[in-house]
Amino acid sequence: MGNYSITYAIYNPKWTYGIDERLLKIGASEVTPEEYEQYMHGLIFCPKCFTPLSRNPSKKNVSKNAKTAHFRHLPSFKHIPCAYHTIQKEGLNYVNDELTRETEEDGHFKRVKEWAKLPPEEYMKGDKKVTYNGINHDPEGEITEEVIPRHNGSKVKVGSNIETVQYICWNLDALLNVGFSLPGKQATLPLKDLLYSTQMLRRDISEEPQLFYGKMKGFHYQAFSNRTKIQCHGNKFMYIYTKNELDERRSYGADSIGRYVMFYGSVKWDEQKKTICHVR
Ligand SMILES: [Zn+2]
Repeated sequence: MGNYSITYAIYNPKWTYGIDERLLKIGASEVTPEEYEQYMHGLIFCPKCFTPLSRNPSKKNVSKNAKTAHFRHLPSFKHIPCAYHTIQKEGLNYVNDELTRETEEDGHFKRVKEWAKLPPEEYMKGDKKVTYNGINHDPEGEITEEVIPRHNGSKVKVGSNIETVQYICWNLDALLNVGFSLPGKQATLPLKDLLYSTQMLRRDISEEPQLFYGKMKGFHYQAFSNRTKIQCHGNKFMYIYTKNELDERRSYGADSIGRYVMFYGSVKWDEQKKTICHVR
């Protein structure tokens, strides 16, 4: 999940740093940098050291240096130890500079380089430290010939990177006409042209993964993976297999029957010529 170690923050409008940590999770929700909204400002906390976090950039999804949005600790809490403090490389004295164009978020374009493979908290289980590889200019540091970029005032637009189907679902209305590039596909198309209704599913569909949506007709709890029945054309159905712990996290289960679900994956056919979708 990118180069940033804090993959999610705890949002709790009723808690402040200093209150018993056990109360932090009560009435709280987990937010990823891409789910962050302005009203959460000042109300998000590090799941490891519980100090307040900020999101960078605070309003848009792409920073001026074309970095993807990420959480960071507040400098005023730097003295609180945390496994998720970014390690700063020793500063270098940059003697050369280069004019570059600032990057700016292009609201008409989103990229999905790769879907998140795990929920955000899974990425924080290990104690992996992340080193900041950006520029750390120190006039006292060792002289480097490497070039430091300086902005010349003009701007390059870049699409922000997103990693979850959930983000698409939550912002569907606003995203329908936004251009998307999905993993492994070259073309950028408006989201509305990338959505694939399961009603349109035919026997000759290729194994190329698609962003499907369809009506949920059944849900079956099973030992290894839960099975969802999705309405296809006429009296045909397809089945999606999902992991129980991930379903619980999304409150996805029998209560969701009758609703529409969106999922990304490729279609496989079993011996009975039933459709199975391998969700990625
Ligand atoms: Zn922390």
